[in-house]
Amino acid sequence: MSALPEETLRRGWCPSTLRPMETGDGWLVRLHPPDAKLTPAQLRRIAALAAEHGNGLVEISARANLQLRGVTAESHPRLVERLLAEHLVDEHDGDGPQRVTLVSPLAGQDPTAMIDAAALALQIEQSTRALSGLPAKLAIVVDDGSAQALDEFPCDIRLLGIGTGTAAVCLADRLWQGPVAEADAIAAVETALRRFAALRSAAPDHLRRLRDLPADALASLTDLPATAAPAPRRRPRRVGTFTLKGDRFAALIGLPFGRCDATVLDRLGATVETSAADIRLSPWRALAFRGLHHSEAERLLALAGDLGLITRDDDPRLSVQACAGSPACSRAEAPAMADANVIAEAAADLLAEGVTLHVSGCVKACAHPAAADLTLVGRNGRYDVVPRGTTRDKPVATLDLSALLTRLQPGQDIHARLKAARSMGSQG
Ligand code: SF4
Repeated sequence: MSALPEETLRRGWCPSTLRPMETGDGWLVRLHPPDAKLTPAQLRRIAALAAEHGNGLVEISARANLQLRGVTAESHPRLVERLLAEHLVDEHDGDGPQRVTLVSPLAGQDPTAMIDAAALALQIEQSTRALSGLPAKLAIVVDDGSAQALDEFPCDIRLLGIGTGTAAVCLADRLWQGPVAEADAIAAVETALRRFAALRSAAPDHLRRLRDLPADALASLTDLPATAAPAPRRRPRRVGTFTLKGDRFAALIGLPFGRCDATVLDRLGATVETSAADIRLSPWRALAFRGLHHSEAERLLALAGDLGLITRDDDPRLSVQACAGSPACSRAEAPAMADANVIAEAAADLLAEGVTLHVSGCVKACAHPAAADLTLVGRNGRYDVVPRGTTRDKPVATLDLSALLTRLQPGQDIHARLKAARSMGSQG
């Protein structure tokens, strides 16, 4: 039974599942469920495998991937073997991207959608598998134009529903082209990818993403005319009950800081195991249980609330990124996740205004490599305070938790600084 993982490891069939990333609390294994969906029974199996072969922590990344933490060199082969044998992952050969598309967690079932993002995304996944020369981090957002706007997620190519059966294409988040009929949208995306792969073959080290292309080369990736950027939409509701087509409902449940214990996932899966639910992953670090009756959705949300998960869209934890920190991570210099709960509560008014907060146990920034309005970096039990920056930027102070909580209060300096930065940002 152990021959399969060793062979697959050697051949590199599934880099994201078979090539785990080393972190301070062991190996992180990323899973891509087939067609990006799970049944309740599959969710329960993944929870069981996370507890058996990892440290029992399960995450949803900001690109809606499932991740198991705390896997070891000894447990990894057996974990991979079970994932493959039980068809819980859908990985393919090669060094190209495993999964490129990001869609709304309601895609395919949203009555307000202009295009069928779920069907388009599946076709795009097939197309990219057939193309060589694409970067592993390629990202394509397929936004159905519904209320679940995906504007905040950066990407190489964005396909956006702008009318019933009509889409626009945005390249490198800066050049809008179209309109294009939904039926022709896949061909336009394929053309762009093929031309990009050809350009990239001449300079793979310099052309990592579409954004590396100069304006004229970017414009020549498709044959579509330039068009105006669509008006930005409101930030969507991220958790709660949502109406689907066919008189069904979805319950979207956020995981605090994108993470929960396997036993919690098991409880959720068991509660809907006899229903018709299918489960999708949301880039807002949530699980979407779809196809429920209204009473089932409400019951599931009530249980999730009891389990400490996020069921209200005004929950400040939705605006916070935090890594495990100590004691889970051996490199941590502060209990980042435990402290993030307290800090989120203290800064609730700022977070409600859109301030972003990153609490990192050390400079490595596993949870959020990018900048945040406020980044806190563990240092010898205290936190380096970095406004509008990353863990590697220069701090303005190093504070213990108590001093930090005080200075986040209205009238105090860090609060005033964040409030001013936010109001300048919203004016710009
Ligand atoms: S960022 Fe957090 S999880 Fe990553 S190594 Fe540092 S303490 Fe550990």
